[in-house]
Amino acid sequence: MTSSNAGKANIGVVGLAVMGSNLARNLASREGNTVAVYNRSVERTQLLTSEHPEAGFIASETIDDFVASLAKPRTAIIMVQAGKGTDAVIAQLAERFEPGDIIVDGGNALFTDTIRREAEVRAKGINFVGAGISGGEEGALKGPSIMPGGSEEAYKTLGPILSSIAAVAEGEPCVTHVGTDGAGHFVKMIHNGIEYADMQLIAEAYDILRQAGAYSPAEIAAIFGEWNKGTLESFLIEITAEVLKQVDAKTGKPLVDVILDQAGSKGTGVWTVQTALNLGTPVSGIAEAVFARSLSSQASQRAAVDGLPADATAWTIEDKVAFVEDVRRALYASKLVAYAQGFDAIRAGAKEYGWNINLGAVSKIWRGGCIIRAQFLNRITEAYEADPGLVLLLSAPYFADAIAQAQEAWRRVVIAATQAGIPAPAFGSSLSYYDALRAERLPAALVQGQRDFFGAHTYKRVDKPGIFHTLWSGDRSEIETEPSSH
Ligand code: NAP
Repeated sequence: MTSSNAGKANIGVVGLAVMGSNLARNLASREGNTVAVYNRSVERTQLLTSEHPEAGFIASETIDDFVASLAKPRTAIIMVQAGKGTDAVIAQLAERFEPGDIIVDGGNALFTDTIRREAEVRAKGINFVGAGISGGEEGALKGPSIMPGGSEEAYKTLGPILSSIAAVAEGEPCVTHVGTDGAGHFVKMIHNGIEYADMQLIAEAYDILRQAGAYSPAEIAAIFGEWNKGTLESFLIEITAEVLKQVDAKTGKPLVDVILDQAGSKGTGVWTVQTALNLGTPVSGIAEAVFARSLSSQASQRAAVDGLPADATAWTIEDKVAFVEDVRRALYASKLVAYAQGFDAIRAGAKEYGWNINLGAVSKIWRGGCIIRAQFLNRITEAYEADPGLVLLLSAPYFADAIAQAQEAWRRVVIAATQAGIPAPAFGSSLSYYDALRAERLPAALVQGQRDFFGAHTYKRVDKPGIFHTLWSGDRSEIETEPSSH
């Protein structure tokens, strides 16, 4: 630090609700950091500093004092309400910061907002970094997985600070410079989408074990505990076992049975699906998970069809051990599809927005700190390290083998669940996605024929180059044509 920086903070946090105050405490606990803090309403600042004198915060009651308390290049992480709150704080900081200073948005921003904000702030010579921060309040305090975007220049200052607070997985900090402008928030959004799919798949496995296998929640907790020792080992499997073990103090019933069966959401799953639709990238597992939560919350629609017949066939289970193993394999195969789809969406986003994203590095930083942390993320990293140009994860040897081994079981489970009337939309759509990808011919040929019939949308032929249109209503002859503008 230069002498004008003496006694100043190398990093500041604006927004001291649960996420910001935990992140500030995490920063302060790491050697070499002096942390400035500021919050719009002074009460939160006072509460944080009085409860945590050990952190040695430099606290300010005005934005001017906060900016003055930062060493140059000034670096501030914003942890305020996403949307208008973030825009308001960016405007306050951008007014006061100088060229070369760094504004970091650590909230859950939509990546297109981050692209816009980065351009606006960069026009003033100030660096803007949209950083996805995953792991909730505990992650913020103890070590999150961090996905920063922004410029190389900003990352030179910011990288060491973020590395100091990130989760550590197998000796490596869970942070990497994802790419420019909105790349970090884009990857964080896809992370959340994959989280939706993973949770839904686990829920479907539970439902099948419960309904078809007649296992109790406690027994299923034990099954998940066993699964957590193998290839499925992950935070989500671990907490699923914990949730299923829990007994409601009031009724003595398994807690899962007294929780209303309506799953909420905060919107990042919807963003993922909307973005994938725009990119033309099928993330069907994530989409099914988002729709499954919507359907669960449609109380009146569910009530309207309550009592309609299922005409289901009971699932005959002769060997319970084999049944449980089938469900495990179906879960693992579906999960591989969900992650493959998520990484394919990142690849498509990177192409569309001009980001150079190292997919293996992304997988690595999800191994700690975040909700989808899991052993098998190492397999994804290995696949991209072996072939950085890998078109789709499912074609990498580990994934192809894993799916081949799971395939029979996967089909048995999807068929039996369908016959038994147990909804398993994410299992089923993952299998259909896999079958569609590997199909030699798809009925898309018929769809294209229909499009040419009603809209003269033209088609290509399998046997010669060119664009063709059939005169359907006349002599049904075929003409070679320029691409239609329809
Ligand atoms: P929050 O409830 O989203 O927002 C409250 C904070 O925003 C308060 O500090 C509030 O200041 C401030 N704020 C709101 N509008 C403002 C404005 N116009 N100007 C200045 N400050 C304003 O807080 P949070 O739950 O700690 O979340 C912070 C960010 O992290 C959000 O973007 C959220 O989406 C994200 N988040 C991430 C995770 C995760 O797992 N990664 C989890 C939760 C949240 P006052 O005290 O003055 O009202």
